Amino acid sequence: MSSRPSSSQSSSDVPNIQVIGQSRLGLPLLSHTWSREQAPRVLILGGVHGDEVEGVALAQALLAEAISTAAFGLRLTLQFITEVNPDGVLMKTRGNGAGVDLNRNMDTQDWSPIAQTERYQPGPHAMSEPETRHLAEQILNNKPQLIISLHSWKPMLNVNDAPNSKLCTQVAESIARHTGDRIEPNIGYSTPGCLGTWAALERGIPTLTYEIERGLALNEVIRRHKIAVIDGLRTLEKLV
Ligand SMILES: [Zn+2]
Repeated sequence: MSSRPSSSQSSSDVPNIQVIGQSRLGLPLLSHTWSREQAPRVLILGGVHGDEVEGVALAQALLAEAISTAAFGLRLTLQFITEVNPDGVLMKTRGNGAGVDLNRNMDTQDWSPIAQTERYQPGPHAMSEPETRHLAEQILNNKPQLIISLHSWKPMLNVNDAPNSKLCTQVAESIARHTGDRIEPNIGYSTPGCLGTWAALERGIPTLTYEIERGLALNEVIRRHKIAVIDGLRTLEKLV
């Protein structure tokens, strides 16, 4: 934790900033965490796909707001990894520096070495990429009660609830009241090795894959979606 003995701020007013690992090309994977005792734990991810600039922009805008408001004034343990795939963000590619789609590289039961199309490269074996290994390590160590992963495609809130839980859907409903985006339990095509399967279906951690409209102007992404996510977090604070 950050320690500021001479400051009047409590340790939870400022995030703990960590380099949690390195990308395939050696770029730092940065994490910002506000920790609060006995508070719901949430992990917000951006840039799993480096070319989905809408998700990165929203993750960064949320982080900036969290820094200026001490984690939105909410009773949450809040972790951000705004660029899970910094190689792809830098190169504007879906995959990382090895061309692997990180959302097909998790060691799920349905992981497959066969790329469904050229874009969806799963890697030579599950968890072959440093980014997926570091992400999994963070999730297993910090045990978030909700993961929100910001992407862009057709606008949609793809909910992966844990068994016997509706938490992800309830948070998505709160978000959709702002955005009008549809809530889908199934994204509509098969996604072997993806985070939603790995975290929610196989490890019981509710995961919201948040698809922002691809190509939406970034100021509009932030205007429309930032308040929606914060309101979703407020719902989480009340539910957990
Ligand atoms: Zn994506």
